[in-house]
Amino acid sequence: MKKYNFNAGPAILPAEVLEEAAEGVRELNGSGLSVLEISHRSAAFEAIMEEARALVRELYTLPDDYEVLFLQGGASLQFLMVPMNLLPEGGTASYMDTGGWAAKAIKEAKSLGNVHISASSKEQNYNHIPKNITIAEGSAYFHVTTNNTLYGTEINELSRFSVNGNPLTPKGENQIKGLGVPVVADMSSNIFSGPVDATQFDLIYAGAQKNVGPAGATIVAFRSSILGKTNRSIPTMLDYQVHIDNDSMFNTPSCFAVYVCMLTLRWLKRMGGMEAIGKHNDEKARLLYDTIDNSDMFVGTAAREDRSRMNVTFLLKDNSRDKDFLAMCNEAGIVGIKGHRSVGGFRASIYNAMPLEGVKVLTEVMAEFTVHA
Ligand code: PMP
Repeated sequence: MKKYNFNAGPAILPAEVLEEAAEGVRELNGSGLSVLEISHRSAAFEAIMEEARALVRELYTLPDDYEVLFLQGGASLQFLMVPMNLLPEGGTASYMDTGGWAAKAIKEAKSLGNVHISASSKEQNYNHIPKNITIAEGSAYFHVTTNNTLYGTEINELSRFSVNGNPLTPKGENQIKGLGVPVVADMSSNIFSGPVDATQFDLIYAGAQKNVGPAGATIVAFRSSILGKTNRSIPTMLDYQVHIDNDSMFNTPSCFAVYVCMLTLRWLKRMGGMEAIGKHNDEKARLLYDTIDNSDMFVGTAAREDRSRMNVTFLLKDNSRDKDFLAMCNEAGIVGIKGHRSVGGFRASIYNAMPLEGVKVLTEVMAEFTVHA
């Protein structure tokens, strides 16, 4: 039976990419070897790593002064590597507290310095993105989570924000470039989901296992000038400069994960890049949110203006029916729809590789459930 995979991560990958990856496991480009067997020092793997890094740069139009790395340890290790590389001892960083992952990033930064909470929606169970933010004077950087996977909120329009009481410049300009501090973005759950001026972020990081590939690879991209300002002694594996100097191959990289990321990035390019994928994602999200809004039985959990295009969170008004709805989803081949325990209800993760057809099947099940209520 055909399955529709709505898991939050690891998550759905394009069918074509799975085919190509399977072929690479059997034999990489007629080499007589599996991609799982080749040396990371071989010309064949170096070419894969180079292409993956080049595609990240190309898809986000990153200028030459950005470095692109493929590392391991997931986004969770970046929670620590960011302050380790950017926060001087005794220094302060400003963080938005917009969800469980942001809170974990804050915890790691606190182990290395002071954290100023720029704004928090914790008291409202993270159901929105706070817009009035403060940035502590002398902050080494400002950290945002661009999409909150657990709660289904996303920073959609920075022009609504005010910083230290002043509105950001109007939409269309590079709003947060004017902040005067490096901006760090955890983009784990919305990287490459549509057009964005990535250069408004001085550092981007993302675990690959949602929009880019399998678990095991982490993308980090940053403006090289932000490094070298902490005077900290940085352990080798946590030092971005070490990974730059070694082209992301200081030690054995997660070769297969990087290979599949490269294939997915190629697929994204074939699809037409960020504009095209953004339209595709808009269409899916619109269909699903419209279904929720037009239903008497379902209700969305995130504030409308902050709704995520990637993770759609919703509840049944009568939660005693949750099991019935899940059973109906199960019958239709819908997988991974159960909400995170901190929100309850349901979460449909509709990453890049989810076809419109998958969302249609889900909305049809929702309609049918409503009729038979
Ligand atoms: N940040 C966000 C926004 C996430 O969604 C996740 C994982 N789901 C993480 C960080 C942690 O990523 P990892 O499991 O790669 O450490």
